[in-house]
Amino acid sequence: MPNVEYRGMNLIVPDNDSEWTEYFQAARQHRLVMRKCAACGLMRYPPSHACPWCTALKWGWQEVSGRGTIYSYEIVVQAIQPGFRDWAPYPVVLVELDEQRGEPTPDEGLRMITNLVHFELTPEREENVAIGKRVRVLFQDLAPDFALPQFTLTDEPPEARVWRFG
Ligand SMILES: [Zn+2]
Repeated sequence: MPNVEYRGMNLIVPDNDSEWTEYFQAARQHRLVMRKCAACGLMRYPPSHACPWCTALKWGWQEVSGRGTIYSYEIVVQAIQPGFRDWAPYPVVLVELDEQRGEPTPDEGLRMITNLVHFELTPEREENVAIGKRVRVLFQDLAPDFALPQFTLTDEPPEARVWRFG
């Protein structure tokens, strides 16, 4: 696949990395996909080689809704990557997808680290970020076979108690 430029950085997925290549190709079709274990049926992210729950190696892609809840977050004040310096301070969120919540144990879920952005792909303001707020995926198209999944806030009522720093 081509090298993709994103905020002045080169995003490179090697040709032999079929896991991420297919993940980003699906994203370019605006589909969020997870690896689903063929043995136990549980999904996982990132798309690792073996199932973290039962260690089976067989799997298939499963499309998910791209809807979820902010499970945790941080605010980046000092950006290490030069490409993000003009974004700071900006949020990085841990999204728990609606699928597979509380499985296989009550403390588990399908969670992704992601940017939280507006539709114009600028970072969400710190005062709008909180644990429990609802989000959905949106896709930033960067090449003919590559898009980055990002997340954005929705108007849905929050899940349970909303909590934010100070
Ligand atoms: Zn499994």
